Amino acid sequence: GATLGVMGGGQLGRMFVQAAQSMGYFTAVLDPDVTSPAGLVAHYHIEADYLDEQGLAQLMQRSAAITTEFENVPAGALVTLGAHRPVAPTADAVAVCQDRASEKAQFRRSGIPCAPHALIDTPERLAAVSDSLLPGILKTARLGYDGKGQAVVADRAALAAAWDALGQVPCVLEQKLPLALELSVVVARNAHGDVVQLPVQQNLHRSGILAVTQVPSPDASPALQAQAAAAAAQLATDLQYLGVLCVEFFVTTDGRLVANEMAPRPHNSGHWSIDGADVSQFDLQVRTLCGLPLVAPRQHSAAVMLNLLGDLWFGTDGAERSPPWPAVLALPGTHLHLYGKTSARPGRKMGHLTVTAATPEAARATALQAAALLGLPAF
Ligand code: ATP
Ligand code: MG
Ligand code: MG
Repeated sequence: GATLGVMGGGQLGRMFVQAAQSMGYFTAVLDPDVTSPAGLVAHYHIEADYLDEQGLAQLMQRSAAITTEFENVPAGALVTLGAHRPVAPTADAVAVCQDRASEKAQFRRSGIPCAPHALIDTPERLAAVSDSLLPGILKTARLGYDGKGQAVVADRAALAAAWDALGQVPCVLEQKLPLALELSVVVARNAHGDVVQLPVQQNLHRSGILAVTQVPSPDASPALQAQAAAAAAQLATDLQYLGVLCVEFFVTTDGRLVANEMAPRPHNSGHWSIDGADVSQFDLQVRTLCGLPLVAPRQHSAAVMLNLLGDLWFGTDGAERSPPWPAVLALPGTHLHLYGKTSARPGRKMGHLTVTAATPEAARATALQAAALLGLPAF
């Protein structure tokens, strides 16, 4: 069989590798960490950084086609690889998603509303910021994730202090919107321009990190869901996107759909699709990378996903413990995915639990039981 390569060895790479292997492919992972979650399960683990030319050369030699699990791969590395091998997503699409300013410019080009915002990359632009953007959220234009590299700022003094604290790197200041809901849509597009998507996902964040995803969305109206699905497909088409893309949305308290950001890869909020749909987001990644037929996924079960952060590995006394898996797995329809990370840290994504059921109500009821057993808040 052919070998598929992936840049990055985190949990997204691991689940890509698992999907690729079940379809008969060999897999190669590029990641400097000898114990990376994906490297541990791949056929070939190239222990090098994505900036290491030898590592890239090895990945290229090994692989018939290459994808990424990590959105901050330098576009240059994807260009180099793309000159010799099929690469999905392509460097230009990844470049748009790597920078919040260019991402928002793309939303505008595609006619999709996003939060009022301004680029802050010089003291002059900082001084010229409109008061209408305050209170706001200052976000580094690049490299932020899980709410890192952002600060809520109430006024101009707080804004200036936050920009200093972030090292005066290029940032985007967004108006802080009153949110009713958060949604996301996973979409896949191939070279023929065919677009398929997963159903709209409803997401709950805690401390800037995804905590719970429910599908179907219990609270978004059918009209809002159709709008989100259409916006995601539009973006994939406008970007001439190749591969799997996730678009995050806000629903404001006055019922407007606003695009937040895009991830040029499978997304944490799409993990439920492994157990709740007949084609998962990782299957879609394999299919688009390899030019295999792209069929529309069908959700066969209602699903609720709970993220399992490292905090669960510590008791109230601070001592490390194992979460009560037997009790959780005694509940019907629970699917436990642990990523094989060698050490737990608070806030670290260690795994996820998907609860599937015949109805959304049943999935939610069981997920609430699982959450209670794990000591997670209700939702
Ligand atoms: P991810 O891990 O999803 O990549 P991130 O670090 O890129 O996260 P964002 O998605 O920009 O961060 O923001 C994290 C969360 O903060 C959002 O999901 C939302 O709950 C809140 N948030 C971000 N921007 C705004 C805004 N303009 N108004 C209100 N809330 C916001
Ligand atoms: Mg992000
Ligand atoms: Mg986000």
